[in-house]
Amino acid sequence: MKIAIAGAGAMGSRFGLMLQRGGNEVILIDGWKDHVQAIKEHGLQANFNGEDIVAKIPVVLQSEINETEKVDLIILFTKAMQLEKMLEDLRPMIKEDTEVLCLLNGIGHEDIIEKFVPMENIYIGNTMWTAGLEGPGRVKLFGSGSIELQNLGEGKEESAKALAEKLSESGLNANYSSNIHYSIYRKACVNGTMNGLCTILDVNMAGLGETSTAHDMVVAIVNEFGQVAKAENIDLDVEEAVTHCETCFDPETIGMHFPSMHQDLIKNNRLTEIDYINGAISRKGKKYGIATPYCDFLTALVHAKEQILQAT
Ligand code: NAD
Repeated sequence: MKIAIAGAGAMGSRFGLMLQRGGNEVILIDGWKDHVQAIKEHGLQANFNGEDIVAKIPVVLQSEINETEKVDLIILFTKAMQLEKMLEDLRPMIKEDTEVLCLLNGIGHEDIIEKFVPMENIYIGNTMWTAGLEGPGRVKLFGSGSIELQNLGEGKEESAKALAEKLSESGLNANYSSNIHYSIYRKACVNGTMNGLCTILDVNMAGLGETSTAHDMVVAIVNEFGQVAKAENIDLDVEEAVTHCETCFDPETIGMHFPSMHQDLIKNNRLTEIDYINGAISRKGKKYGIATPYCDFLTALVHAKEQILQAT
């Protein structure tokens, strides 16, 4: 299978590497010139579960994609705010039968993708794989993970199942979900609580969990996600979602980690995905007439912090 990874940062590199090792023809597409140049010159350098490896993977700058490039599948792995520009640059590559899989964190990406790709060719999902970008051309890939995905187009269940199977052949552990919007909302609750709060409070997840106000804040935020989900006919189990979020506090598992938004903004001075997590709930809340004060405030605080730190 010929697969393009559109957005070859931490996660895109992981998927590109694993899919190539699984026997697929992979091409990486990215907009960061230094990163693309480094991969071209030295290959993708990865610490893969403790072993240093170099993978020769074709890579192209997204501004240099040409009409003749034809792939079976495009996996989108930009940050949410880079998605629309990436899709614009991908236009010459998107043919009538090109399938597109989106595994970004956040809510509502299909609204953007549908502007560029027919609904019947779109698959959405989420993933529990993780990855870290160490610098141009260098990634750190530890642990294991999984993927859940579903077709957006009607009658495409079998294609979605076949896609999951294909990804699993490369060890990506993908499964078909019959209710992917539920899973996306459930994961967004984790991002919508841990990411923004740990970033603003400059604390890891265990540290957040030790505060006397953490539980009430998590409940309030997840409640807002639940109300908006309900307006979209998704019956989120709020109590279960709160418990799920609070497993992140455990210092014995992942509690000592800083969530990715903290790493993006506080460590690397980069803009965040807040508009596609809490900000998406605020926008949808306005549309449905649902008050979302916690998500509104957290979104505003993170944007203020981005500006104070002059993040780019
Ligand atoms: P990333 O920041 O590593 O890469 C995204 C894009 O940003 C890439 O095009 C990359 O080249 C570019 N980029 C990164 N650093 C840059 C820099 N210093 N200057 C210029 N460009 C730079 O993002 P990611 O972690 O791969 O995340 C992609 C999507 O997957 C996001 O929606 C994220 O929330 C989600 N996700 C990430 C993880 C994870 O562990 N990293 C896990 C699950 C889901």
